[in-house]
Amino acid sequence: MALILSGREVARAWQEALRARLGVLAERGRRPVLVMVRVGEDPASVVYVRGKEKTSRELGIDSRTVVLPETTAMDELLAVIDALNADAQVDGFIVQLPLPGHLAEDEVLQRIAPAKDVDGLHPLNLGLLCQGRPRFLPATPAGILRILTHFEIETAGRHVVIVGRSNLVGRPLANLLSAKSPRGNATVTLCHTATGDLAHFTRSADILVAAAGRKRLITADMVSPAAVVIDVGIHREPDPERAGKERLCGDVDFAALQERVRAITPVPGGVGPTTVMSLIENTVLAAERR
Ligand code: NAD
Repeated sequence: MALILSGREVARAWQEALRARLGVLAERGRRPVLVMVRVGEDPASVVYVRGKEKTSRELGIDSRTVVLPETTAMDELLAVIDALNADAQVDGFIVQLPLPGHLAEDEVLQRIAPAKDVDGLHPLNLGLLCQGRPRFLPATPAGILRILTHFEIETAGRHVVIVGRSNLVGRPLANLLSAKSPRGNATVTLCHTATGDLAHFTRSADILVAAAGRKRLITADMVSPAAVVIDVGIHREPDPERAGKERLCGDVDFAALQERVRAITPVPGGVGPTTVMSLIENTVLAAERR
């Protein structure tokens, strides 16, 4: 049976580490302020933003959410961003993705002041990351690095296969893991929709990261028994054991893989909780830097 890499356990330890830093800020009369902007009522976004708010409040971070209607025009959203950029009370803010189709995400991300970009998705911050001198680590990749460090999973010299090339997850993660750094130094293969024989690559992974957004894409025959598997995917499906209820699953066939691989993150309770903590750490960092 695989070792279960509990993201909840990682998040708890991370919270303790952050409490000490928040204590130092409090002595200076500083309480970090985080704002989240949500446009529309995408059910997943509603849940994610609520989770981020809850955890940040528990840690004593002053967090609030600006909710805008689905029909918000681009110039209206940009005006909200400009106001947050100019607001001296606000240490950091995020615009929850995905945005409704009529809003250009790239343009929105580019408008956020880089020093307040606690999601780490502004082109300047992604560029710094590519150069190996990140200012804010994007939340999901940072959470994955934290899981690997917490469970003492070595990356140097290992073959990491990442399935998914998004700017949110796959690409920045590939950058971080291939960097010449204690948490990197891996040989990274980035797979995507044009990868011919996906299983050929996933089978050769020492560490496999599934971030394709496809339910149970990774099956037991696609992994090596020695693999460490990180499942980023989050999907909702009807719960066969509770009529009318839903449950979550990932990009990996967890039930089959946990019998086979060395270690695996569950869904829920894996990457999700560490993503939230990365955002909070970036907010603390933004407040410390001011
Ligand atoms: P995305 O749709 O932007 O990118 C998915 C990538 O996977 C694309 O680059 C695509 O080329 C690749 N892909 C899709 N199908 C594939 C296939 N069959 N074979 C190989 N490659 C394939 O998604 P994203 O924003 O990167 O998110 C990925 C998943 O992770 C989603 O399920 C999302 O909900 C989840 N997610 C979870 C967290 C978390 O905190 N746990 C955070 C962000 C995203």
